[in-house]
Amino acid sequence: MKIAIMGAMPEEITPILKIVGEYKTTEYANNTYYEASYKGTELVIAHSKIGKVFSTLTATSMIQHFGCDKLLFSGVAGGINPSLKIGDLIVATKLSQHDLDITAFGHPMGFVPGGSVFVETDKELINIAKDVAKELGKTVQEGIIATGDQFVHDSKVKDAIVKNFNADALEMEGGSVAVVCDALNVPFFILRAISDTADTDASFSFDEFMESSAIISAEFIMKMVDKLVE
Ligand code: SAH
Repeated sequence: MKIAIMGAMPEEITPILKIVGEYKTTEYANNTYYEASYKGTELVIAHSKIGKVFSTLTATSMIQHFGCDKLLFSGVAGGINPSLKIGDLIVATKLSQHDLDITAFGHPMGFVPGGSVFVETDKELINIAKDVAKELGKTVQEGIIATGDQFVHDSKVKDAIVKNFNADALEMEGGSVAVVCDALNVPFFILRAISDTADTDASFSFDEFMESSAIISAEFIMKMVDKLVE
């Protein structure tokens, strides 16, 4: 087993690198990959940079170049479901690309021929997350995550995403990572801690809470890794 652990921004993987302690740094395809042996299992850790294209490149590299056979994503997201507060964790059951739009041809939002509106995540990894949550006495909500190449800070945009995808949270990488892992048959898991609620003041909330929420998500992911390597 070789586990990929991915974030989008440096702050999302720094807490993971701290826990892992020692690692080897490799430059590949304009990005830095951190390879570590953790409790006898190989880990490859990287932040992709923000957005669907960079996260596609990193997820593909981790699988095809570094040989990872499981992928865990840790990061922050904008909450849509009013039950999600700053710092709360959401695990994606399925993900969509909310900005993929060829509706002019009669297709639904998020759909292109040969693809599907939603990509489902791995159920076994969700079960491991539930076990970890139970052990930590933490609530982890399951839900739909919508991904697009924009930082959403507008309730009208949010409402449209709810209407089209019934999403609970939104971010900028999960949906593309999902497409890669699904196509390459690699079980994957997307975890996000809420940093903002994608409203007018989202950028301020993000700046205030991104780091603390990223740590909450990263620490939970490492508890999952502990279970996986047991
Ligand atoms: N402040 C950063 C930009 C952050 S973009 C800079 O200046 O470099 C937001 C990042 O957090 C993305 O990686 C995305 O996945 C996630 N995210 C958190 N809240 C979001 C929101 N409201 N809309 C879209 N993505 C969000």
